[in-house]
Amino acid sequence: PSDGDKNGVPFGGEHSMSSGSGSGCPRLVQMTVARQLQFVMNIGRGRYGEVWRAIFRGEDVAVKIFSSLDQESWESETQLYQTDLLRHDNLLGFKVADIGGTGSATQMLLVTDYHPRGSLYDFLKTLQRPLTIHEVFRMAHSIAAGLSHLHGDVVGTTSKPIIAHRDIKSKNILVREDGQCVVADFGLAVRKDDRNNALVDSDKRQGTRRYMAPEILDNSIRKAEFDSFLKADMYSFGLVLWELASCLEPFPGHGLSDYKLPYDEVGVDPDFATMERHVCLERNRPKIRHDWKLDEWKNILRKLMEECWSQDPGARLTALNVKKKLAKNMPPPAIHAF
Ligand code: ADP
Ligand code: MG
Ligand code: MG
Repeated sequence: PSDGDKNGVPFGGEHSMSSGSGSGCPRLVQMTVARQLQFVMNIGRGRYGEVWRAIFRGEDVAVKIFSSLDQESWESETQLYQTDLLRHDNLLGFKVADIGGTGSATQMLLVTDYHPRGSLYDFLKTLQRPLTIHEVFRMAHSIAAGLSHLHGDVVGTTSKPIIAHRDIKSKNILVREDGQCVVADFGLAVRKDDRNNALVDSDKRQGTRRYMAPEILDNSIRKAEFDSFLKADMYSFGLVLWELASCLEPFPGHGLSDYKLPYDEVGVDPDFATMERHVCLERNRPKIRHDWKLDEWKNILRKLMEECWSQDPGARLTALNVKKKLAKNMPPPAIHAF
C-alpha cells in the first residue's frame, strides 16, 4: 500500500504525469520516458540519486534517478546495459534509459525490472526467521550464476565481453520473489573491450571500502591485467557469502542472530587507512562461526568463502567454480543443517 503523495513523487504523480510540475517535482517535460512513468513510491536513496517504484507501460518497474553530479555513472551504467548478450536471469533486467534537461539541471534516469523484496542487505536485515541451508545455497548459487555470466565472454557471431562489476555487496544485489537473486548497480562496471578506460586507468580506488579486496586497498592490484578486477569481485562475493551464512541458525531453536555487515568491528564508514590496516596488514577476515565447521553443508559454504577472500588474488575461486560447486552440492529443500 503505497502513498505517492506522502513520498514527494518526482516529475509529478499519477495526476500530473505530463506536467512534471507538482509539489517538489523536478520539471522533466522534455523527457520522453518520464512522461510515461507513474511514480508510486521511493524505494532507495543513494549518495547521488534515488530509486523509485513506478508503472511503465502497465508494468511494475524501478526507476533510478541520477543527479546531475553523477552523469558519468549514468552514462557508464546505461552503456553497460546495452552490451550484447548481457541479459541473464541473475542480472538486473534493463528496460530503458533517458536523459533530459541541460547543464547543471541535467537529469537522467534508468528503468529496470522491479524487485519488491529489495536489496539482499535489506532482506537479510529484516528477516523474520533464520534462512534454511537450501535457501542460502540457492541464493548464493544465483549470485554466482549472475556473476559468472558477467565475468564470462561469449565469442561468435554475436559476442559478449568480459565484465568486472567492481562494487559487489549485499546492497547491490536484489532478491527476486522466488528467492533467487539478481546482481544490480552497474555504475562502476567495466568491460574488458573498453580500451583506455579512464576508470581502470586512474589511480582512484573505486568501490565500497568495506568490501574492497586487499589489493585494491593497498593499491597493489595489477591493473594491466583485466582478470585482476574479476578476482577483486570474487573477494567481495566471499563477504556476501559470509553475510548469507550468518543468517543460518547456529543450532536448532536458536532463532535469528542479529544481522551484521562484514567487518562490523570497523564501524559505519571506515576510511581507507582503517580498512587497509584491518584487511591488508592485520589480515583480518569476517569471523568463521564454530557451527560452520561441524555441519557438512555449512562447511561447504565456509570453504567457499575462505577460498574467495584469500589474500592472494591468484588463489581465489572464479565465479564459475563457485557456481559449479554449489550446484553439485545443492542440499534438498527439506534438509536442515544442524
Ligand atoms: P546506487 O548506484 O545509488 O547505489 P543502486 O542501483 O544500487 O543505486 O540502487 C540503490 C538501492 O535501491 C538498492 O540498494 C536497492 O535497495 C534499491 N533498488 C535499486 N534497484 C531496485 C530494483 N530494481 N528493485 C527494487 N529495489 C531496487
Ligand atoms: Mg548501489
Ligand atoms: Mg552505484
